Amino acid sequence: PPVPDAEALQHDDVARLLPAPSGESDKYRRGVVGIVAGSARYPGAAVLAVSGALRGGAGAVRYVGPAGEAVLARHPETLVHAGPPAKAGRVQAWVVGPGLGDTPGVADVLESDVPVLVDADGLRNLDPAAVRSRPAPTVLTPHAGEAAALLGTAREDVESRRLEAVRELAGRYGATVLLKGSTTLVARAGGPVRVNPTGTPWLATAGSGDVLSGLAGSLLAAGLAPHDAASAGAYLHGLAARRASRGAPVAAYDVAEALPGAWRDVR
Ligand code: AMP
Ligand code: MG
Repeated sequence: PPVPDAEALQHDDVARLLPAPSGESDKYRRGVVGIVAGSARYPGAAVLAVSGALRGGAGAVRYVGPAGEAVLARHPETLVHAGPPAKAGRVQAWVVGPGLGDTPGVADVLESDVPVLVDADGLRNLDPAAVRSRPAPTVLTPHAGEAAALLGTAREDVESRRLEAVRELAGRYGATVLLKGSTTLVARAGGPVRVNPTGTPWLATAGSGDVLSGLAGSLLAAGLAPHDAASAGAYLHGLAARRASRGAPVAAYDVAEALPGAWRDVR
């Protein structure tokens, strides 16, 4: 049968994707996620990405960057590393970019042999060849402005043809691409675009994207296929925002704190 252009993400499909620990699990087998994020100017982005990752089911989170103190103040369970990502120890997936500013680390992470999720500042001047030649999958999570910069076009152009734009990016980078916005779309080469039904406009608040990057990175580290990690992440993120909001404004950290409840709703 012909492949449809787009398909709505279904609750039952997401439920099947969520990892569950078994008797044989230990923290390493559950997946260790590495987060390269934050800067002197934006330490909070690191905290929010780590929050999303810790509530995304990872067995452990390694944080690499200059915001270690802020991260530990909220999340003492984080393994904080100074020095480059390559020296941080083994991880099953990397998240790079939230609040990163000009802090280096993107190239180092792209050279690793594990799945990588690139968001926010990590997407600046991202070279398609460097992504295409990676030995492991890559997930890109731009909003419309970041997607427009990657495509060399205007934000309005992306907004006027979101389905086409997300497909074009997936093809150009040989990656899974999650395009954020009023409806979140997840594209990969050769498959239909998945449409997330759980979003809420209350998510349009500073830092909410940082929570999503950590969450989806955690699902990648647990071994989900890149398009499954991205789409299950978007689904849970939207549900958590609705739970936290129930019609009232929310802050990004509230969304992170509502993730366990969203997870139970899906199960
Ligand atoms: P970022 O742009 O990285 O801060 O991420 C913002 C988050 O909020 C993403 O998960 C978007 O999909 C979500 N979002 C932004 N605007 C809207 C909207 N109008 N309706 C639903 N979700 C939104
Ligand atoms: Mg963002």
